[in-house]
Amino acid sequence: MKFLVADDDAISRLITQVALQGLGHECRAVSDGAEAWEAFCTDRPDVVISDWLMPGRTGLQLCRDIRADVSGQYVYFIMVSVQGAIDEIVEGMVAGADDYLVKPLDLADLKARLIAAARVTSLHNHLSDQRSELEGLNGKLADLARRDALTGLGNRRALDEDLGLLEARVNRYGHSYCVALFDIDLFKSYNDTYGHQAGDVALQAVAAQFGRGARSGDAVYRYGGEEFLCIFPEQSLDNATRAVQRMRSNICELGITHAGNSPGVITVSAGVAILEAGHGRSMSDVVQEADEALYRAKKLGRNRVEHIVRPSGVSASGAT
Ligand code: GH3
Ligand code: MG
Ligand code: MG
Repeated sequence: MKFLVADDDAISRLITQVALQGLGHECRAVSDGAEAWEAFCTDRPDVVISDWLMPGRTGLQLCRDIRADVSGQYVYFIMVSVQGAIDEIVEGMVAGADDYLVKPLDLADLKARLIAAARVTSLHNHLSDQRSELEGLNGKLADLARRDALTGLGNRRALDEDLGLLEARVNRYGHSYCVALFDIDLFKSYNDTYGHQAGDVALQAVAAQFGRGARSGDAVYRYGGEEFLCIFPEQSLDNATRAVQRMRSNICELGITHAGNSPGVITVSAGVAILEAGHGRSMSDVVQEADEALYRAKKLGRNRVEHIVRPSGVSASGAT
């Protein structure tokens, strides 16, 4: 273990240091409270053995300061007091000391205290390792809770959380976001012809293509069964629509045979809408508008992209 010994009495300090080193421990010794605090901050010892009365900072204050610092691993604190000063010892224990020793130091006594110190320190380290592991697992769980199991894309829960954040940014910072809603064309017939399992594989391939096609900063989610939603931050509606066209065409080029769909391969239709600051609309209004545009794309023959512009007034226009 790594020790810090703080004692303004040179002889007592030396005896403790030599005893600890003799027992095979790494030990730094300092002669006042202020130096002890500095050494504690730089060395991060496992155990501090501190005299009660020292210049600079008393052992009691040192103990309180160490307990108030929760940034590192647990530090075992042994308060050293003079014979018979039981009140000091109690006060030290209340301030957070784990144990105490009395002067003059008895080597056997020190050895016994070190056994307790090693046991408690190892328990604390074990607990701290378990806490880190638990935090890691919680992080993974939180990530899994936001992922769609089949495609690995963000799920509806992730989308709902993210839409809330984006909406706040639109209102607070004047950001703008385009939203595209994609839907696989005649997918029911794909399942009917090739089976649900093949349908799942096709969904995964489409999702992977969306994932590859999205630029960094864009986010893709599985919105529903065979529906996907993509968010394009800080893009004009025209640019986002062009990006969506590319994504639509990339899905076509995957070449997944779909005899029941007129191009002979799986295709998607998409609707695009934009949310800008000052238009008094919410993210869910914009998703609704993207859905309306998607509906129009379906009605106009599928495998196409439509967008809705509705910032000032009610103009709607399409694009293929
Ligand atoms: P449209 O072009 O109008 O969108 O026609 P569609 O057949 O795609 O639309 P519809 O909503 O009638 O059918 C969607 C189909 O998507 C029905 C459902 O079986 C299928 N689907 C939804 N989720 C999954 C899934 O997780 N796996 C598979 N294999 N199919 C799914
Ligand atoms: Mg659908
Ligand atoms: Mg569909």
